[in-house]
Amino acid sequence: MAREDYEVVIGLEVHAELSTKTKIFCSCPTSFGAAPNTHVCPICTAMPGTLPVLNEKVVEYAVRAGLATECTISQDSKNDRKNYFYPDLPKAYQISQYDKPLCEHGKIEIEPRAGRKTIGITRIHIEEDAGKLNHDEFGRGSLVDLNRAGVPLIEIVSEPDLRSSEEVDLYLKKLKSILEYIEVSDCKMQEGSLRADVNVSIRKKGATEFGTRTEMKNMNSFRSITRAIEYEIDRQVDVVDNGGTIEQETLRWDEVSGKTFSMRDKEDAQDYRYFPDPDLVAIKLSDEYIENIKKSLPELPESRKQRYLTEYKLSEKDANIITSSKYLSDLFEEASKICNNPKAVNNWIISDISRILNETEMDPVEIPFDSKQLAKLVQLIDKGTISSSIAKKVLVEMFEHPRDPEDIIDEKGWVQISDEGAIKEVVIKVLENNPQSVQDYKAGKEKALGYLVGQAMKETRGKANPQMLNQMFKEELK
Ligand code: ADP
Ligand code: MG
Ligand code: ZN
Repeated sequence: MAREDYEVVIGLEVHAELSTKTKIFCSCPTSFGAAPNTHVCPICTAMPGTLPVLNEKVVEYAVRAGLATECTISQDSKNDRKNYFYPDLPKAYQISQYDKPLCEHGKIEIEPRAGRKTIGITRIHIEEDAGKLNHDEFGRGSLVDLNRAGVPLIEIVSEPDLRSSEEVDLYLKKLKSILEYIEVSDCKMQEGSLRADVNVSIRKKGATEFGTRTEMKNMNSFRSITRAIEYEIDRQVDVVDNGGTIEQETLRWDEVSGKTFSMRDKEDAQDYRYFPDPDLVAIKLSDEYIENIKKSLPELPESRKQRYLTEYKLSEKDANIITSSKYLSDLFEEASKICNNPKAVNNWIISDISRILNETEMDPVEIPFDSKQLAKLVQLIDKGTISSSIAKKVLVEMFEHPRDPEDIIDEKGWVQISDEGAIKEVVIKVLENNPQSVQDYKAGKEKALGYLVGQAMKETRGKANPQMLNQMFKEELK
C-alpha cells in the first residue's frame, strides 16, 4: 500500500519555560545564558533538608495560558513527584502534576488549507525543568549545569487531533503566538524555551483504532519538526507495509542525517511511581482569583486579526501573518501610528521584513530595530528623501548593522537626488545615449519611457527621484 492509504495521527506535548523572574520552588533567577551553576541554591540543587515553596506567579501564568486556550481551570490541584534518575535531575524526581492538572479540556483553532479546524488541548500542567548536561566534545565526560533546574515550565498536551505536518506547524505557531501575547513565555526556540515532544502514529484509512505511536523528544525548530514528521511517517508506512509492527518507543531526530534513531523503550506512568509531593500544599484557587486573571488577559491574536480587517482594511492573509506574532503585531500598530501610513508599514512587514526573517531563520522578537525606526523609514520615502528601491537597501542595513535609517542614508550617501538641475542633466544624457528608445516613444510606444527612466536610475545608482525623472522625460520628449 502507499502512504495515501494511511491516515496520520499526531499529538504534541509542548514544554514552555515560563518567564517568571525566579524559579518555581526557590528564588534563584531564571534568566538564560549565565555562567554554569551560578543560578543555584540549596533548594534547586536538592540539598538534604531543604523544602520547596511554590512560586505563585507560576500558577498565575499557567492559569493565563489555560484561559487563553479555553481550558477549564481546576480549583483544586496539586503537585506530584515523578521519579526517575538522570544526572541532570538532582532530586532524582521531578515535581510535576499527575492526575490533577491546573487546566483541562481546552482548544486551539488552526486554519489549514483544507479549512478551519479545532485541536483539543487535553491538559496544561506546571512542572520544574531539569538541569543541563554539557557533553565534552572529545568524549571525556559530561558536566552538569543546574542553572535550568527548577525553571518553571508548563506542559501543554494536545489531543491526538493533528493529521499532518502542516497541521502541526500551524498548531505550534498558533500556540507560540498565544503564549507570546499573554506574556507567559518568551518562546525562544533556539534557547529551548519552547520545545515539543511529537507523537506520531499511522492507521489504515477508515480504521477506528489508533496505531502505536512513537515519540520524538525535545524538538525545538519548526523546520526539523516538519522534516522529522515526514521522515517518521514514511518509516512507519514502510515498516507496516513490509508486515512489521511499530514499537512504542522514544526516538531521537538527527538533523544531520535526517533520520530518527531509537533512544529507549517507552516508559509507562507506573515506571515513574508518581505520588503527591508531601512537601507542598494543595493548590486551591477561588472564583475571584480566576476571574481576575481572566479580566487581565490582553487582546488575543484572533481578535486582533478581526480588528485589522476592519480598522486597517488589511487582507485576511496579511492580517494572519502580522498577528501571528505579538512582536510583529505591536511593530505594525506602533509604526503605523507614528507615520500614519499603515498600508506602507503592512507592506514592509509582509514583504521585505518577512523575507529576511525567513532567510535568516530569525524570530520576530529578534528584529534589531524598533517601531520608531521602521516608521522613520516609511516617512523618508513618503517625504521623497529616499526612493523605495534605496529604502530596501536601508532595511537590509537596519538588520545587519542596526542604526537609525537617517544615519544609514547619510553615511552611505543614499539621499535621493531631487535637484532639478541634476535630474535634468541625467535625463539629457540618457536621451542622447538612447536615440532608438526616443524614436520608439515618439512613435507611440509608451513602454520606452519606462526603459529610459530605468537607464537614468542606473546612471544615478537608484538615487534619482523617480517621479521627477518621469516628468522631466515627458517634458523633454514633447
Ligand atoms: P506520555 O506522557 O506518556 O507521553 P501523554 O498521554 O501525556 O503520554 O501524552 C501523549 C501524547 O501523545 C498526547 O499529546 C496524545 O495526543 C498523543 N497520542 C496519544 N496516542 C497517540 C497515537 N496513537 N498517535 C499519535 N499521538 C498519540
Ligand atoms: Mg510523552
Ligand atoms: Zn535555587
